[in-house]
Amino acid sequence: MAFVTLPASLTRMFQHVHVPLFDTIRALRSVTPQEIGLLWKSITSKRHPKRVPPINSDFYDILADLSPEERAIQQKIRTYMEERVRPLANTYWERGEFPHEIVPGFAHLIAETFGTRPYKIDALGPVLTGIACMELARVDPSIYTFFGVHWGLCMGSIDLFGSPEQKQRWLPPMQRFELIGSWALTEPDVGSATAAGLTTTARFERGVWVLDGAKKWSGNAPIADINIIWARDVSNNQVQGFIVERGTPGYEVERLEGKIALRTVQNANIRLNGCRVPEANRLPNVGGFRGIARQLAITRAAVAWAMTGVAMGAYERALAYAQQRIQFGRPIGGFQLVQNSLVQMLANVTAMQTMCLRMSQIAARTGKVSQEQASLAKVFCGEKMRETVALARAVLGGNGILLEHEVARYFADAEALYSYEGTHEMNTLIVGRAITGISAFV
Ligand SMILES: Cc1cc2nc3c(=O)[nH]c(=O)nc-3n(C[C@H](O)[C@H](O)[C@H](O)COP(=O)(O)OP(=O)(O)OC[C@H]3O[C@@H](n4cnc5c(N)ncnc54)[C@H](O)[C@@H]3O)c2cc1C
Repeated sequence: MAFVTLPASLTRMFQHVHVPLFDTIRALRSVTPQEIGLLWKSITSKRHPKRVPPINSDFYDILADLSPEERAIQQKIRTYMEERVRPLANTYWERGEFPHEIVPGFAHLIAETFGTRPYKIDALGPVLTGIACMELARVDPSIYTFFGVHWGLCMGSIDLFGSPEQKQRWLPPMQRFELIGSWALTEPDVGSATAAGLTTTARFERGVWVLDGAKKWSGNAPIADINIIWARDVSNNQVQGFIVERGTPGYEVERLEGKIALRTVQNANIRLNGCRVPEANRLPNVGGFRGIARQLAITRAAVAWAMTGVAMGAYERALAYAQQRIQFGRPIGGFQLVQNSLVQMLANVTAMQTMCLRMSQIAARTGKVSQEQASLAKVFCGEKMRETVALARAVLGGNGILLEHEVARYFADAEALYSYEGTHEMNTLIVGRAITGISAFV
């Protein structure tokens, strides 16, 4: 609903409609010709568009590259997210709770779009997987993150590094979201430096693995049935991955409180106190930290797409607001400075989309995403996402910090995406090492 801003004296007059006729005429006489001119201009202004153009955050038509079947999948995800998730997103975010009520519908959506064939981390192919992540994050970055941890990190670890028996046992129920997955690499004292050595240890004793240590941030852990715990094998200092089941003695989960981003996602601190895990739950094909880096290249590419979705969501909300918010007698979208912000946002979104698309097309052609290319996309998209959500927040003025207008949620959530799955700096160093041949990590 748009409001016309009346000249101050007219506003005063209409606030007092009970005033006698004489006072009304007197009030009218106090309206200056300039004010009448401004009112007339605001009513007749050609700057009120006759037809508001549709909001389109795919300016270079990247979706045109999809086949009709792929386009139908993208549309299905978009419709589900708009109709089922958007109405709940702010409420759960504010409460800091996970919306368990959406899980059956979400599972159905994923079965309909990602399919029911045996799980593979890259089943949809890099382009469509990326676009699916973009669509999830466009509406709710928390729901994208829930999915990314469960599907890409937890199930992805079992797919890439698990035995046939482990895949058979865990992947089908996880694919149906009957079991929820988590993933724990980061530790309270080891964040960016995980490649240089974990402090959580794994000791093989009388036929079982004994895990000791602590993990921080583990996504989905408070609601998860299994967690992939990464630990240093004390016999050779190599990293090993373990499927740890909820309820295992010595595995303690404490919900992480006080987050200002992705509040819907449940993160946890984990304590491992002599946690005993059978050999059958050790992932046999990790092959050291290189294996984890290979997996992170795939999931970082997905994060770059998700960042694109966050920027799209913020841009769309800001444009819609600019079209209907009236100040000085016309929509704020009619002011040059606001248009400058909107165009900058659209340019960012378009650059992110085209970069991600190209990255995924190369991955589709070569069969794998390169670590450097995924890192460059995460670095670039992280920066552009942050700039875009900040511009969107400013376009909404004070309303930009109110949850009800949604942009505030994107603004806060962007901060988590910027830092997780390798910080901006770590990903910069990965690209820096690739182009100079010199490692600048330490
Ligand atoms: C919302 C959220 C969800 C997460 N989910 C998970 C999860 O599911 N599982 C999991 O294992 N982890 C998860 N993480 C952890 C995340 O991966 C780490 O936060 C990230 O790797 C950075 O580690 P850190 O926070 O300890 O920062 P630190 O490593 O302490 O870094 C602090 C700062 O120093 C910079 N820095 C560090 N070393 C260097 C260097 N050599 N050169 C230049 N700068 C440097 C960093 O870039 C950063 O700016 C999550 C984090 C967040 C915020």
